[in-house]
Amino acid sequence: MPVLRSIVHMDLDTFFVSCERLLDSRLKNRPILIGGISDRGVVASCSYEARKFGIHSAMPMRMARQRCPEAVVIKGSSPTYTKYSRMVTDIIKEASPLYEKSSIDEFYIDFTGMDRFHGVLKYSTELRQRILRETGLPISFGLSENKTVSKIATGEAKPDRL
Ligand SMILES: [Mg+2]
Repeated sequence: MPVLRSIVHMDLDTFFVSCERLLDSRLKNRPILIGGISDRGVVASCSYEARKFGIHSAMPMRMARQRCPEAVVIKGSSPTYTKYSRMVTDIIKEASPLYEKSSIDEFYIDFTGMDRFHGVLKYSTELRQRILRETGLPISFGLSENKTVSKIATGEAKPDRL
């Protein structure tokens, strides 16, 4: 019988926005746009409060500001995001036998061989809670037998869920 795999996809929720909120708690619950501040810039990341206005990543910043004039616009800081990304990576690295970092805020973890389903689910849930507790960054995950389905599941789970 083929070995069934246990693949977890973890994705930090509105990662750049979450980092900015750690630095300035006044940004909580507000529509936030992160990205190029010039008229030709695009939205790199936006908060869920901004998404309610139909704003999404890669949208021209000018259009986003028209849709939500009260949004706070932040240029963003890659050194800050890199620092927080490393903190999360270090936790995942320590807790996982095999992982792959697929972007600054996304990870695949192979938990194949751990106690089927309940063991993996419990362990992944604890890892998710640990990341939030130790870094202050909300993260969602999906669990299935392959990367594609797990990534889709994470998308369905967001934000801050499993
Ligand atoms: Mg993300």
